[in-house]
Amino acid sequence: LVEDEQDIRRFVRTALRNEQYRVLEAGTISQGLIEADSGKPDLVILDLGLPDGNGVQFVQDFRHWSQVPVLVLSARSAEQEKIAALDAGADDYLTKPFAVGELLARVRALLRRGQQLQAAPEAHLSFSNITVDMARRSVTRDSEPVHLTPIEYRLLVLLVTNAGKVMTHRQLLRE
Ligand code: CA
Repeated sequence: LVEDEQDIRRFVRTALRNEQYRVLEAGTISQGLIEADSGKPDLVILDLGLPDGNGVQFVQDFRHWSQVPVLVLSARSAEQEKIAALDAGADDYLTKPFAVGELLARVRALLRRGQQLQAAPEAHLSFSNITVDMARRSVTRDSEPVHLTPIEYRLLVLLVTNAGKVMTHRQLLRE
């Protein structure tokens, strides 16, 4: 559960725990990615307005290494963000305020869909002496940090997650 508003977090956490789900929590995009890497959740519930950026960024980064379902929580006024999140790979959304029954029904539906996925998420990629940690957005060479600009980082991740495939200019620009 990636959500910075305490009231909504408590509401969602309580609803899920009452149904015996285990809940991992984060209040920022960066912490959410780390929790998703270490906790290997079956589902991510994601707020779009977070202190360190837009939840759409979370979805874009997360989809480089995980196919786990993402349920977006959006404000009614955030229509464009909701569309962007779905286009980036989110699976469903709920508009705030939402009822507990609808939340749980969407969670169950996404978990059913998620069970058909096989591999657990793997946020670490290595080639030669380079390691890319996509949850922490860090790159190391021989265990030494490599500093990349955001665009360099995105290009690297795109290329290593498509290793062995030919990438066209169009694909690179789109991503
Ligand atoms: Ca928020």
